[in-house]
Amino acid sequence: MSEDTILLAGGGIAGLTAALALQRRGRRVVVLEQTARIGNVGAGITLRETASRSLYSLGLKDRLDATSDKPRPGAALDYRTGAPLAGSLGQRNWVATDFADVHMLHRADLFRLLKDAIDAHDPHAVQLDSRVTAFTQDDEGVTVTLADGRSLRGAALIGCDGLRSAVRGLLFGEAAPRRTGIVAYRFLVPLEQARPYAKALGMSVGPRASLSRYLIQQGTVVNCVAFAHGVDITEEGWNRHATRAELLDLFAGWHEDVIGLASCAPLETTACWALYDRDPLQTWVRGRVGLLGDAAHPVLPFLGFGAALGIEDAIVLARAFEAKVDPAEALKTYEAARRDRANAILLESRRQGEIFRAGPDGASDIPPHERESRAPYDPLTAAL
Ligand code: FAD
Repeated sequence: MSEDTILLAGGGIAGLTAALALQRRGRRVVVLEQTARIGNVGAGITLRETASRSLYSLGLKDRLDATSDKPRPGAALDYRTGAPLAGSLGQRNWVATDFADVHMLHRADLFRLLKDAIDAHDPHAVQLDSRVTAFTQDDEGVTVTLADGRSLRGAALIGCDGLRSAVRGLLFGEAAPRRTGIVAYRFLVPLEQARPYAKALGMSVGPRASLSRYLIQQGTVVNCVAFAHGVDITEEGWNRHATRAELLDLFAGWHEDVIGLASCAPLETTACWALYDRDPLQTWVRGRVGLLGDAAHPVLPFLGFGAALGIEDAIVLARAFEAKVDPAEALKTYEAARRDRANAILLESRRQGEIFRAGPDGASDIPPHERESRAPYDPLTAAL
């Protein structure tokens, strides 16, 4: 392997986008992914404008348009009556034209289009069953050790290995993330079944939970994400499934459309995902090793911005590697360009979660001028 290769630990949305962005700027990359298959499937994702435009810049606009849905007119709905809400949460009611570059799609489709584009540059760039366990660095490069004993040498290592990042732990010796006591329930209902309960889509905030639902896969599937507090679940991932009783209990007293949707949730693929939090880090980089995506800034999902931040990171990282010859300098440049925005959105997401937790009669929504997530931003032109 060439000493110029950039090694990326983790083939999630952030790692794959970073790999592709670096390839597009002429760099050789290797993505080391611990699992045997790319892509945590089973749920939809909303890509904010900054993420969509970043992916357009990587040549993915046509495929993104072909595989995703645009937001339809939606509303913040009263959890009991299903009627559009008044008050500050009601200000969230939106129309489709507000979000021309927002895409809503199945995660599996997003992974597929990223992986295909990477493979077209280099079919060996993504290496599966490759768990990073250690690294050393010197003046010339980084040596990464994998769980199976293999080692690889490259110019730099980017830890894109998520909330429980091994690279972050090795760099900064951090403890485990904090449990929030909030659980995300994620499920997909085919529209065929959901039609009677999908007259209005959008978000409802109730006393113990909030629920967002939107259409994906050319309007054929309703993606549902509920955030519930006071649920005693600690697992993350796709292995802990909800029971029907659990779902119906969560939405007891809610509007019949919500109860109908919960009654249709396919239990074998309805994941309960405990949410964990970390404080912002003031540095993501040491020498030739840096962090990107959730590994650098694990954003709670209340704004639906975590993947977008990872995608923005990817574009800025690739620009920094193009601008600076020395990998350590490139990483410092990347960090300086990204840290304040990502950390501000991490804290904003946490605050948004507290507002949802306060329930329908609780705290006012965050005013737009206090939201970094609404500030104009373009990772393609942001100052380096
Ligand atoms: P991850 O997705 O965690 O990927 C890390 C990868 O690294 C994994 O493939 C893992 O297997 C691999 N890995 C881990 N350790 C190692 C190792 N030691 N060696 C090698 N590989 C390793 N964001 C949005 O923008 N829009 C949304 O609508 C949205 N909705 C969300 C809803 C929910 C319920 C949740 C929980 C999150 C949501 N997010 C959303 C956030 C988004 O999913 C994450 O921010 C994003 O997926 C993080 O991507 P990542 O690549 O940084 O990390």
